[in-house]
Amino acid sequence: MATAPYIVVGGGQAGLQVCDSLRKFGYEGELLLIGEEPVLPYQRPPLSKHYLGGDLDAARLSFRPASHYEKLGIALRLGVRVTAIDRERREVVCSDGSRLAYARLALTTGTRVRPLSCPGAEHPAVRYVRTLADSDGLRAALGDARRLVVVGGGFIGLEVAAVARKQGKDVVVIEALDRLMARAVSPQISNYYATLHRGHGVDLRLATGVTAIEPAVSGVRVLTDRDEACEADVVVVGIGVVANDELAAAAGLACRNGIVVDECARTSDPLLVAAGDCTMHMNGFLGRELRLESVQNAVDQARVAAGTMCDQPEPYVQVPWFWSDQYDVKLQMAGIGMPCEESVLRGDPAAGSFSYFYFRDGRLCGADSVNRPADHMACRRLLAQGTMITPAQVGDEGVDLMQIARG
Ligand SMILES: Cc1cc2nc3c(=O)[nH]c(=O)nc-3n(C[C@H](O)[C@H](O)[C@H](O)COP(=O)(O)OP(=O)(O)OC[C@H]3O[C@@H](n4cnc5c(N)ncnc54)[C@H](O)[C@@H]3O)c2cc1C
Repeated sequence: MATAPYIVVGGGQAGLQVCDSLRKFGYEGELLLIGEEPVLPYQRPPLSKHYLGGDLDAARLSFRPASHYEKLGIALRLGVRVTAIDRERREVVCSDGSRLAYARLALTTGTRVRPLSCPGAEHPAVRYVRTLADSDGLRAALGDARRLVVVGGGFIGLEVAAVARKQGKDVVVIEALDRLMARAVSPQISNYYATLHRGHGVDLRLATGVTAIEPAVSGVRVLTDRDEACEADVVVVGIGVVANDELAAAAGLACRNGIVVDECARTSDPLLVAAGDCTMHMNGFLGRELRLESVQNAVDQARVAAGTMCDQPEPYVQVPWFWSDQYDVKLQMAGIGMPCEESVLRGDPAAGSFSYFYFRDGRLCGADSVNRPADHMACRRLLAQGTMITPAQVGDEGVDLMQIARG
């Protein structure tokens, strides 16, 4: 009897990486990648950066050309959604009515945007950025627009704001908390970015909530809990994402703000693994459970998931890292710096090139670097190795951090 294929559900960063890694781990059997989006797996980061700004072609967004999948024997079913998993019969049910048997299954279903819930939020001027289709729609809408309101001062909202300012649009950013990117960076970095955006002409309204969106004579009016009204042709909402874990939950897998997996990417069913944005995972490096939304996590955890599918389980212990491009400023984050007990500056914010290194329990736990890639790389290495380094050392520009990391 022919063995059923390994099936990967979700054609994003993690889904492609599971497929590629399965081949690297030596899996030679049938392999099928099922993705709801009708296009080859592509990079999402440029959707709010260079692609949105028109500096990158759609063709360059794809991770790999069609020939890559042929070469590796990865069968693709694109534009197809998996609607159910029948774990008893070991089959997936697809939106096109087909039922496909699997020997092992990887879930890489990612996340979807958290919708704005105030009255008027369904107005067609209100947009999100998650998919290529979203970014294409926003690009077209921005073409004729003069006024943009961004709801949410996180990475995606701020990247869109930066692109729109470069295009000369009037931009208002409304953020409910009292600082930018508060979930991820320190107050010092938030303040730096507030000054940066204001310096580029963004009207930044912190500690302000959106209460309603009303149609206006032209465009919409965004109302806030400070009794302000901002007129806009386009509203972009970036208030976070929600894990696509309903498929797994309906199949009886443990889910808690994501599909629960152990450090080897195993779900509560030994035949099923999960990786990427959709997982609530045990992170060996941090020693705790969390959900990460990053390219690093999608790639590294997918590798681990593929190893587990090939009965070569290795725990996931990689250092988390992330980046964001706003104007000509690159922010790179290594580790999880917040909360911390001590933060140490290296470099000069006034010169636009600096890092903050963070210490918790007397140990380096992360760094945020602004136009300072060498600090970022050194920090990743120091964290990965668990090298002891002191606040005095990182604060002294005469100390070569990479040399210490190299040992
Ligand atoms: C605009 C934007 C900018 C970003 N910028 C950065 C950045 O600068 N740095 C960084 O590190 N990260 C960034 N990210 C985050 C990064 O892109 C994600 O962490 C990464 O894409 C996660 O990959 P994933 O494969 O887990 O999920 P996804 O990329 O979400 O892929 C999941 C795929 O599964 C499909 N799917 C879901 N359910 C089903 C189903 N039932 N059947 C079939 N298919 C299904 C979805 O349609 C989707 O195509 C950004 C994300 C966005 C949206």
